[in-house]
Parts: sequence; structure tokens; C-alpha cells
Amino acid sequence: MTITSEVDRVVSELRRQVCDLHAHLTHYELVIWTAGNVSARVPGRDLMVIKPSGADYDTLTAEDMVVCDLYGNLVDGALAPSSDTAAHAYVYRHMPAVGGVVHTHSTYATAWAARGEPIPCVLTMIADEFGGDVPVGPFALIGDDSIGRGIVDTLRDSRSPAVLMRNHGPFTIGRTARDAVKAAVMVEDVARTVHISRQLGDATPIAAADVSALFERYQNVYGQAGRHADPVQEDQR
Ligand SMILES: [Zn+2]
Repeated sequence: MTITSEVDRVVSELRRQVCDLHAHLTHYELVIWTAGNVSARVPGRDLMVIKPSGADYDTLTAEDMVVCDLYGNLVDGALAPSSDTAAHAYVYRHMPAVGGVVHTHSTYATAWAARGEPIPCVLTMIADEFGGDVPVGPFALIGDDSIGRGIVDTLRDSRSPAVLMRNHGPFTIGRTARDAVKAAVMVEDVARTVHISRQLGDATPIAAADVSALFERYQNVYGQAGRHADPVQEDQR
């Protein structure tokens, strides 16, 4: 098998995976109309697979997914790439461990972004998944590297895989595209729960040492090898 055909096989598989992962965005009601996008890095290549711009979720196919370089230039595909491609590309260029990026305007997480307020770490689930408060990133206009730079500057030194871009909405990252989708689902869930908690009174913060203990256990001790591959184990926590 030549190198080229191996890349073709990997890209073809990623097109299928990225297409299928978009179904989670609609299933969990994280997106409306054509908003939102999932991308995946092509391992070992300066390439990414991402949703096309303005595509209807109901008719999305694997073949519709476009391949871009890590500067957002179209490499392969019949449709124009997502309008957020430059932000995804910036993240891949500057965070080598990231294999997947997701963006939505999910209601509760975006409501926190509108207020420019981090989601406080008041639940063990937030400590597990985000390792502390879910941070807010800067206000940034679309059209250049501003959004990508804001994501990277906020998440580079954070344990959180999610950033609430101010006045915009959540961007999430992961080792894989599936991990990034999971973070997008989880950030909306905790944004909703903490919002509801706030209606009834002040939520109680978790002590920093306990946040770290929870995060370390969940990320490292709690069956890391199987955590992302074994949904049964994931459900048993
Ligand atoms: Zn957006």
C-alpha cells in the first residue's frame, strides 16, 4: 500500500466519523438550522476534515465533509468549508495534542458566554470533565485568526477542554473529535444545571484540592485506556 492510498483511507474514514458525530449535535439539541461544526485532524498530516458551510444536518453525507490544510485552505471537497474553519485550523496549528474541535451556540453555554461569566466549578461532574471553572475567552470577530487565538490563549494553560467565547458561544477540544463532541455535550449540560441552581440560591464551590483530586482520578486513574473506547465503562461512573 502506498502512502497516498493510506492517507486516502484515513481521510475517507474521518469523513465518515466527522459526518456521524454531527448527529450528536442535533440529538442533544446543541444546534439549530446550519449552525455548529465538528472537525478532526488527519493524524500525522497537516490536514483536517470539517463540515461544509451552510450544510443542512438532515442531509449531511460523509462525502460532503471537506478536507482543508491547517491554514483553512480547501484541499479536497465539492463544497466550501465551514465559516469557522480558520478558528479550527488555528487550534490544530498551535495545540499539537488536539485531534478534534467542536463549535456550537448551545443555549445555556451561550447564555453564560453572553454574560461573559465562567461556569463555576460547583459540581463533581465539572471537576471531572473540566478540572475547574469553564473559562471565558475574549470577544473576537470572525474573519481572521482572532477567534482561534482567543481559544488557544484561553485553553493552553487550562485543564478545561471547553471555552466560552465571549458574546459568541462554546468551542471545545479533545484528543479525538469524539472527545470534543463529548465536551460540547457536557458543557451544555453543566451550564444548564448551574443556571437552574442559581435560580434557587448561591451554588457552593468545591475546594481547589478536591477539584484537583476529582480531575486526576477521572482523567488518569479511572481506566484511561478504556474511558473513551468503552461506553459501558463510561456510563458506570
Ligand atoms: Zn459561532
